[in-house]
Amino acid sequence: MAVWDDLVGQDRVVEQLTAAARDADAYVTAAASGASGDEGSRAGTPESPGPSGPSGLSGSAMTHAWLFTGPPGSGLATAARAFAAALQCVSPDRALGGAPGCGFCDGCHTALIGTHADVEVVRTNQLSIGADVTRDLVRRTQLSPSGGRWQVVLLEEIDRLTESAANVLLKAVEEPAPRTVWLLCAPSADDVLPTIRSRCRHLVLRTPPVDAVADMLIRRDGIEPDVAVAAARTTQGHIDRARRLATDARARTRRAAVLALPTRMEDIGDALRAAQQLVDAAGEDAKEAVEEVDARETEEMRAALGASEGGRLPRGTAGVMKDLEKRQKSRATRAQRDSLDLALLDLTAFYRDVLVRQLGSQVAIANEDVRDAVERIAASTRPEQTLRRMEAVLECRRAIERNVAPLLAVEAMAVALRAG
Ligand SMILES: [Zn+2]
Repeated sequence: MAVWDDLVGQDRVVEQLTAAARDADAYVTAAASGASGDEGSRAGTPESPGPSGPSGLSGSAMTHAWLFTGPPGSGLATAARAFAAALQCVSPDRALGGAPGCGFCDGCHTALIGTHADVEVVRTNQLSIGADVTRDLVRRTQLSPSGGRWQVVLLEEIDRLTESAANVLLKAVEEPAPRTVWLLCAPSADDVLPTIRSRCRHLVLRTPPVDAVADMLIRRDGIEPDVAVAAARTTQGHIDRARRLATDARARTRRAAVLALPTRMEDIGDALRAAQQLVDAAGEDAKEAVEEVDARETEEMRAALGASEGGRLPRGTAGVMKDLEKRQKSRATRAQRDSLDLALLDLTAFYRDVLVRQLGSQVAIANEDVRDAVERIAASTRPEQTLRRMEAVLECRRAIERNVAPLLAVEAMAVALRAG
């Protein structure tokens, strides 16, 4: 199994990354054998890609900073992680002309499971990433990679960098350490400072085809074919959501709660109760998601601070615990918003299906399992109403992103949906 196997429907991106990993490997090999200098002080050998510029990589398929963009669920982090693994691949097959990224060797394996010493993955579950965290990362990239290959830093959501953090990152990608590789992910190029963007090689992932997602759920996760196909179709090529819907009962509950909204519009009390149920479902979902990790984190921190058996913390450590609590709270808020946002995406997909029916389009509807409700609403309302309702859902997502209390935002949406 090669490192790219979890990427679905991204052949062009895989091609480019494979070429980059090959050149990166040739560069490391040449440097290790002394055929060329690591710092770009000597001319490169003909078969090695560099060093010629300050980075030592000019003219190569490899470079120091990469930007991965693509729609949510297209596999940005999966692509970046696979590339990180390929850069650390130490398979003996490489010497026989095999591309790096075997998926089996120690380098590939540890990079993929997240224990490689030279691969740092920043997966935020906070609302934003601050300058201090970013500065720590940059400091880390100044160290030589312990494995002698590349120091890889993967930031899964650079759209969550604060402005000052983005400026710290900009300096780092402008003057990268010789063996550092930055892998940056964001939903779209617009979410990234133009100055950072221009320093990166940009890869664009596409929404994977529904068939390819279903195939992956069957092949990799062992999901029953009919369940896999339904989940892939419902989530419209969003890999993570498809997998969750196919494997997680809570995801199915939340989806049922949100799809009850359009069908419970008769009386306003009913609509508001549906809103409350949706927010509760998202809250439950979020709570379960963070509870375990919070408890473990708190315990580890207490142990690290030397809490006594009876639970008393040493003097002067209260601030650290407060800080931890603050981070955990921010994570819980984020988890609830994310869960709610996923539910609202389901609602958008529902109204898109309504619109498809109203416009007599030949496109297949996504929500086969609620086809009756789709048909009924399509027949009893007009396309303009459907468009206004989709706008109301979007407005609700925006409001939640702006920090409006979730229940208020969802209630306002329920009222707007009802007004149609
Ligand atoms: Zn390998």
